[in-house]
Amino acid sequence: MNSKCFCIANWKMYLNNIESINFIKKFSKFELNNDKCKVVICPTYTSIPLLLDLVKNMNISLGSQNISQFQTGPYTGEISTDIIEELGCRWSIIGHSERRQFFNESDLLISEKLKSVYDTSLLTPILCIGETLNEMKDNHTKKVLGNQLDSALSNLVFKNDKDLLIAYEPVWAIGTGISADINVISKNMKIIKDFIKKFDTKNCNIYLLYGGSVTEDNASEISSLNEIDGFLIGSSSIDPVKFYSIYKQF
Ligand code: PEP
Repeated sequence: MNSKCFCIANWKMYLNNIESINFIKKFSKFELNNDKCKVVICPTYTSIPLLLDLVKNMNISLGSQNISQFQTGPYTGEISTDIIEELGCRWSIIGHSERRQFFNESDLLISEKLKSVYDTSLLTPILCIGETLNEMKDNHTKKVLGNQLDSALSNLVFKNDKDLLIAYEPVWAIGTGISADINVISKNMKIIKDFIKKFDTKNCNIYLLYGGSVTEDNASEISSLNEIDGFLIGSSSIDPVKFYSIYKQF
């Protein structure tokens, strides 16, 4: 694993076009150091073309919040890797817990989506994994993370110099205002790192992110963990001041 830093914003379905543009206008006042930390924003699909023009001189990349597992064809309502690449995206979130929970995305489907993104030349996948509250209470975290990783990674043929980001996002910490304790994050990141060793990942660069109620108040403590290469940020990422404050703490 390499030392690089990522601050990734998942805007979910919060900001419309005007709000998204206003965010970028405010955020553009802040200084970014791309050598230090990469900023990626994942807006709604409809805002992507509008934002692309605004961010092109700002060291910010854009990503999708979801992707189709199919390349092309009669799949009403879906958007493929080719389409988001053409739009200018370079990243794609896959397997977010809200997709698993509200859209019944299974480990199998997520593994297909991951493969379709990983196999592109331009897109970097951001694979989300994490246990629910009950799974955590029942001490099943290790098993759940292992199963999710097994399903997703077994389907890949790893390539040299291709990046893969894995976001550990405990479901019970997402959007709840209750971030996981730093010791819990550290322990589970080590589980993930150990699990990945099972695979022949060649020289694929694998980075680990934490996500789940990251705020300006806890970012510094969490980012101090050696195991973490960045954050996936939901609620705090739709406010430019809060998002920048988190970015600065890495
Ligand atoms: C997320 O949506 O990936 C997320 C981490 O959300 P929040 O920061 O709001 O918990």
